[in-house]
Amino acid sequence: MTAPFHVALFTLFPEMFPGFLGQSLSGKALERGIWSLETVQLRDFATDNHKTVDDTPFGGGAGMVMKPDLLDRALHAHQPLGRFIYMTPRGKPLTQKMAHALAREQRLAILCGRYEGVDQRLLDAYDAEEISIGDYVLSGGEPAAMILLDAIVRLLPDVIGNAGTHDEESFENGLLEYPHYTRPARWTGPDGVERAVPEVLLSGHHARVAAWRHEQSEAITKERRPDLWEKFKKND
Ligand code: SAM
Repeated sequence: MTAPFHVALFTLFPEMFPGFLGQSLSGKALERGIWSLETVQLRDFATDNHKTVDDTPFGGGAGMVMKPDLLDRALHAHQPLGRFIYMTPRGKPLTQKMAHALAREQRLAILCGRYEGVDQRLLDAYDAEEISIGDYVLSGGEPAAMILLDAIVRLLPDVIGNAGTHDEESFENGLLEYPHYTRPARWTGPDGVERAVPEVLLSGHHARVAAWRHEQSEAITKERRPDLWEKFKKND
């Protein structure tokens, strides 16, 4: 039986999966059948004796490019793909909003690049949705796909026990989250300074706690992420 959320991962390194997705929340959700993961070894779709998956770029230059015919055979053999994603630094930067939208899908197919990337014609032919996990270059799409899936899977129904848990997390309301504190109420750090938990959090006064947390969220967002703060103010 397929899980309500199925992912097909196209990679040259299927042994990297499930990796950390097999642990903790996502791992338990995998065991419970909330989501399922199928890895596809792209090399299995090579037709020559050397199992070639890449070739030199037309126009010259450094590096190798993953072959469109090989990728096409792999994708063709795994229809329906559902939403088809290619992990690439050129893609749309991953956001919490995108993670929510993808968590509403039933099937995802994710292509992990290696070398210089993938022949553009394959991406055009399959209308790939290109997603980046940040402005830096990794050596392959596998860790990027894992990060994308981690962000999605924790949003699937029943993965996190308390449905309200997400509501106040960073980015959910356009702000970064407020600071957290737990016992002991007074704690002395390695610098010898005793630090107390803010009084308001011990007051038991829910409205005051909520107001304090909101103020903190605003202050932290304003200081650390002026880009988010500007957006938040515009939508307020
Ligand atoms: N030549 C590419 C460029 O300059 O945009 C970088 C290729 S990178 C060495 C190899 C693969 O890693 C990419 O095809 C992509 O699948 C993955 N990758 C690297 N950085 C990434 C990022 N920030 N987000 C998503 N995927 C990334």
